[in-house]
Amino acid sequence: MTSITRQRVTVLGATGSVGASTLDVIARHPDRYQVHALTAHTSKETLLGQCLRFRPAVAVLANETDARWLRAELQRANQPTEVLVGPEPLCDVARDASVDIVMAAIVGAAGLLPSLAAAEAGKRVLLANKEALVMSGALFMQAVARSGATLLPIDSEHNAIYQCLPPEHRGGLSRHGVSQLLLTASGGPFRTWSEAAIARVTPEQACAHPNWSMGRKISVDSATLMNKGLELIEACWLFDARPDQIQVVVHPQSVIHSMAAYHDGSVLAQLGNPDMRTPIAYGLAWPERIDAGVEALDLFQVARLEFETADEARFPCLPLAREAMRSGGLAPVVLNAANEVAVEAFLNHRLGFLGIAQLVEEALSSSVDGSADCLESILWTDQRARQRAAGWLERWSA
Ligand code: NAD
Ligand code: MG
Repeated sequence: MTSITRQRVTVLGATGSVGASTLDVIARHPDRYQVHALTAHTSKETLLGQCLRFRPAVAVLANETDARWLRAELQRANQPTEVLVGPEPLCDVARDASVDIVMAAIVGAAGLLPSLAAAEAGKRVLLANKEALVMSGALFMQAVARSGATLLPIDSEHNAIYQCLPPEHRGGLSRHGVSQLLLTASGGPFRTWSEAAIARVTPEQACAHPNWSMGRKISVDSATLMNKGLELIEACWLFDARPDQIQVVVHPQSVIHSMAAYHDGSVLAQLGNPDMRTPIAYGLAWPERIDAGVEALDLFQVARLEFETADEARFPCLPLAREAMRSGGLAPVVLNAANEVAVEAFLNHRLGFLGIAQLVEEALSSSVDGSADCLESILWTDQRARQRAAGWLERWSA
């Protein structure tokens, strides 16, 4: 084994769906990658199993009780992994000088600071945590430009678009002959349901995605189409695009992961089985290609590719996100914070499915003036939006 040339990887959110898929790809290439740090919120048993298998130098958990348990278990197994606690070590393992690649796969706003730390430190950043870009797109892209970090999108749609664009696509799409980005969406589990039926859906139904197996928050976002709204904002920042240059295309088979349309009439698409290990392997090895463990796409089995427009009346989260991006400034921060509170409340049976969009709309209708050019105002706005959303929830359920 050529340990000198192996790249060192930190996996933020290692115990989640994307984190586990990342470790699956890494395990296939022990000659190329070595794990530096693994982090989790509270899933200590899963993290222990991952530590025993990948032998990281550092593991991070959110609280001291879980950390004490993990330390004891690792000691019993004679393993020298250092176990740290809290938000600051998340940033430390992202910016550590020995680290080459950071997989940013924490869910939600909690991923912002560590993802940003990786960008500021000039790492190869594999960005799954879309909420970080939604909240701080301008700051994030500036940090990447300043540090010389390599930012590779892991969200399958953005990874697909990245693959369909010319290698140097900064500075506006039309400069590179691109007329439009076509962002595909599965449409979620309720694509064909009536509004009356959608009003009664349960968290279990919302988390059963037809094509992708994912964490609970993004599964609910996919069901409301807020996921596509967040992805629209994400695409604007990643590809220097305006909201009107991005068209959402509902494609229920999830075989085309997104497309780029060019002025000459060409449309380039990236296809594959819906498996996150493909974009993850792309990000890890870029510009090379490595085995991801993903089965080859069988077009005869797929047989049919369908496309429809998104029904924005039944799924108002999509236009709410587009509007927030058009308004700019701190509106996307408020959108994201209210959505996180609403999704959590829905998952805890405190809010109906349609209430998610209502809470986000309420949050955006109050004043969200100000620019998102400094971290302090982003974090303050995020906290205030969460408090206000929690207040509305209290009142609505009273
Ligand atoms: P998940 O819920 O399965 O995993 C989340 C991970 O983050 C876990 O390891 C968890 O321990 C950690 N975490 C949660 N809250 C935390 C906190 N407060 N502090 C520190 N760590 C915390 O989520 P996922 O489906 O893997 O998604 C992760 C991110 O990737 C999300 O931003 C999601 O939008 C994005 N993404 C996921 C997929 C997918 O297929 N799952 C696809 C595209 C993008
Ligand atoms: Mg996606």
